[in-house]
Amino acid sequence: MKGVVFPGNRQLEILDFPDPTPGPGEVVLEIKASGMCGSDLKFYRPVGGASSLGLGDLKGPIIAGHEPCGVVAAVGPNVPENQAKVGMRVMQHHYRGCGVCEHCSTGWMQLCVEGVKEVYGATGHGAHAKYMKCPARTLVTLPDELSFEAGAAISCGTGTAWGALHRLDLQGDQTIAVFGQGPVGLSATLLASEMGARVIALDTEEHRLQRAKEFGAAELINPQETEDVVQAIRDLTHGRGAHASMDCSSSPTARLQSVQCVRTWGKACFVGEGDNVTLNVSNDMLRRQVTIIGSWTFSTVGQAKCAEYVADREIVLDNLFTHRWKLEQAKEAYELFDKQTSGKGVIVPS
Ligand SMILES: [Zn+2]
Ligand SMILES: [Zn+2]
Repeated sequence: MKGVVFPGNRQLEILDFPDPTPGPGEVVLEIKASGMCGSDLKFYRPVGGASSLGLGDLKGPIIAGHEPCGVVAAVGPNVPENQAKVGMRVMQHHYRGCGVCEHCSTGWMQLCVEGVKEVYGATGHGAHAKYMKCPARTLVTLPDELSFEAGAAISCGTGTAWGALHRLDLQGDQTIAVFGQGPVGLSATLLASEMGARVIALDTEEHRLQRAKEFGAAELINPQETEDVVQAIRDLTHGRGAHASMDCSSSPTARLQSVQCVRTWGKACFVGEGDNVTLNVSNDMLRRQVTIIGSWTFSTVGQAKCAEYVADREIVLDNLFTHRWKLEQAKEAYELFDKQTSGKGVIVPS
């Protein structure tokens, strides 16, 4: 089979790999949709690719793609039938841990006490290919109502937004400021407004702001055209600030503003990866009783709950995707995605 590989420095190769066969406890998925996530750019861009990010030594080229969704194509030995059987529609929680520690056994494989053993699409073969092998315990059932593309989105970007909204304990009578309207931020806007919250969406790209409006944002702010972003958010909240904020941009300036824009007793959640932030701890946090939360994706349980919510509310996640690509078009797909002006892309390998 063919698989997409990021050698680094914005290069992309499509290489030949043997079709995988499942070992004990494992399954092979036939991938029906493999989403493109903002964090894929972290592996696509740097010289040295994923190995330059301290994710461990990679043995040979690794297939990219960490938003896997498809059907079970083959089941290895020692997999109970209620865990996986051929033909089952599934998403995949894209981490492998030891499987038994306190975090793995509660569905948080990425927090494994032994260290996460594989991040699929980064340090283990991911879903930008026709087939993908993974432990059966990493599968999450895809509700019948949802498309494979919706399942792919939930497998990282949308699930991450879901996880962060729950870490914030966002309520329907609250206002949240969402910094950055890429795939995760836009998902946060969509889910938060569906929960009844009022969303202030921020982005420097005008058409991303317009998309945010279509996805439920009540107010839009373009920081490049706004003298004082924090004041602008206060002006929209009776001078008090938002109840909550989420940074999906990773910009040091936006992160600082996302802390400063919440009201006294407010909560700010950092979701975007990489880069840094400098805070005045006394003024920005302590004197206002501000809680800052870090949120990294979600558990298998959270992933299933997110899918159930999207199905029950009939949320059309498919609209998140502006571009659908064949595997052979992956180079073009990532060149466009790298500009960070488009919406979300999905690769449909079969
Ligand atoms: Zn991701
Ligand atoms: Zn573990």
